[in-house]
Amino acid sequence: LIEVRDLVKKFGDQVILNGVNLDIYEGDLKVVMGSSGSGKSTLLRCLNRLEEPTGGKIVFRGENIMAADVDVRALRQSIGFVFQQFALYRHLSVLENVTLALRKLKKLPAAEAKDKALAELERLNMASHAGKYPSQLSGGQKQRVAIARALAMDPAVVFFDEPTSALDPLMTREVADMMNRLHDEGVTMLCVTHDLKLAGQISDKVVFLDKGVVRAEASIETLSQDHADERIRAFFGREA
Ligand code: ATP
Ligand code: MG
Repeated sequence: LIEVRDLVKKFGDQVILNGVNLDIYEGDLKVVMGSSGSGKSTLLRCLNRLEEPTGGKIVFRGENIMAADVDVRALRQSIGFVFQQFALYRHLSVLENVTLALRKLKKLPAAEAKDKALAELERLNMASHAGKYPSQLSGGQKQRVAIARALAMDPAVVFFDEPTSALDPLMTREVADMMNRLHDEGVTMLCVTHDLKLAGQISDKVVFLDKGVVRAEASIETLSQDHADERIRAFFGREA
């Protein structure tokens, strides 16, 4: 689905991504780990062209998304995004948060948007909270609404940027369980995080990003136990 080749991103003379190679296949739940500042968010932002890559190639559904004539709006609509801070509208109900983009971007009629939104909330076990406001929800519930909102747009892939770093372990588990269920349903997901707990709960294969390159792709056990790479040992030693 997504093919990243030799991706380079510089900010001024600071090299953030230094030749990243990554493949996302349909149905993958892929986790990218790395310490703070390793370029995880920058990588995601390059993939939906919120940042202009400095070099390399990104192919999405067979199309080079760095070409000049790419429809960036269409690209972004086909990529769902879930953030650390949920980014829900506090003055809108749960249901309105999910219907908003369906109305505005997909131009669905009100009744259709509502049906679709309720179906997605149902999928995330949040339908009974549809009339509440974000302030009335727990962190884990807010994140599930944010996921429902992303899925409502029928994206080809959903990106998660530190989806659990604002959550306690119990709520992290809740979000991880949902991501696993969506994985079983065939939803393609790419999740960047430095949360070892989350990575262990959702993935058996983790991509480790360090100093702008992919240092390893292995199971979380392999990475955390006896990896030969000293940068990887340092990361897991510090955070385990
Ligand atoms: P964290 O785990 O803290 O979220 P990260 O791995 O997501 O970190 P990025 O946010 O991708 O890291 O940032 C990587 C580096 O790029 C950092 O050193 C940051 O200061 C730098 N950076 C990010 N965005 C910009 C920008 N717009 N201009 C200049 N430097 C930037
Ligand atoms: Mg980040």
